[in-house]
Amino acid sequence: MSGISLSGVTKRYPGGVLAVKGVDIDIESGEFVTLVGPSGCGKTTTLRTIAGFERPTDGTISIDGTDVTDAPPYERNTGMVFQDFALFPHLTIHENVAYGMDVSGDYTDEEIDARVAEMLELVELPGVGDRTPDQLSGGQQQRIALARALAPRPDALLLDEPLASLDKKLREQMQVELRRIQQEVGITTVFVTHNQEEALTMSDRLAVMNDGRFEQVGPPEEVYNDPKTRFVADFLGTANLFDGSVTSVEDGYATVDCSDATIRALGNSVEVGETVSVVARPERLAIDSAGADGATAENTFDATVQFKRHLGSSVEYQLETDDGRELVVARRSGTDERSPGDRVSVRIGPDDCRIVEA
Ligand code: ATP
Repeated sequence: MSGISLSGVTKRYPGGVLAVKGVDIDIESGEFVTLVGPSGCGKTTTLRTIAGFERPTDGTISIDGTDVTDAPPYERNTGMVFQDFALFPHLTIHENVAYGMDVSGDYTDEEIDARVAEMLELVELPGVGDRTPDQLSGGQQQRIALARALAPRPDALLLDEPLASLDKKLREQMQVELRRIQQEVGITTVFVTHNQEEALTMSDRLAVMNDGRFEQVGPPEEVYNDPKTRFVADFLGTANLFDGSVTSVEDGYATVDCSDATIRALGNSVEVGETVSVVARPERLAIDSAGADGATAENTFDATVQFKRHLGSSVEYQLETDDGRELVVARRSGTDERSPGDRVSVRIGPDDCRIVEA
């Protein structure tokens, strides 16, 4: 199996759009890496440069230690799956899965038949070989697209929003299924999505893209719990953000004056006077019944519950502090329920607050 390296990859389209701006990443053999970010940030372009459908304007790409920057797609030995499956409608499922091996001319009919059977087994659809794509459901067609991509034993699997056209329930099933298959085969995978939940649940590492750049690359827990920039904090999940200037730095914590509140937060690479943002995730905020009126200790806010949203396993509260700040607090369903109009006191432990670049 093989890793993928991108070094300073830049892509400027004819006409001038600078879609990718010098991205670097070393993807290990067998790793599942997700490129995630808002529409137009350059995810698909980056993936297409790895596949060889786009040539980078600058930088190099190597697969399995070989520089493939100038190699055409068919010399790169990657398998690709698209959002719309792109199965050949007039071919049977067997012929679809066999396609890549067939056109290579490197395999006997027996080898192809055996590999197709193995792939259909892998995606848990044995026995559909004689059908045509229109006789399968959307989820089944996507499994076949995956079987087709994997059949020729590619060095890497490249997936461009492969689950985007499936409904929510099927999409969640396929997230688990896709990850199972990827781990079973042990194939290096680059996955593109704009869905943050998908990126967080599926990946070994994710690269959060913004305006052609990687803002942060890391394992899901790290990127979620320890975002480096305001953009990353805001894009992945819900973030309570507080802007202010640093008044002191001590023992790994900084105190930030946010005009209506003083917040102590984890973060030691900042300087007194610097303008920063502090992020706190909704599930990290504690709520108590309101104490004495006007009590404004560090990291504490008196607030009123405005809205309550049941999200199945959790409840989300929208709160407004007495000085007009909006806060989002999440609790497990059934624990400590509050109602709109309730007065509460909100605490955020310094260890649950992170300084991010403003
Ligand atoms: P989405 O999630 O909407 O697919 P993306 O993050 O995958 O977006 P890209 O498709 O890589 O983004 O596009 C990045 C930028 O490059 C966008 O501004 C887009 O308009 C532009 N772009 C993409 N393809 C071309 C092209 N063939 N010619 C010119 N500009 C392009």
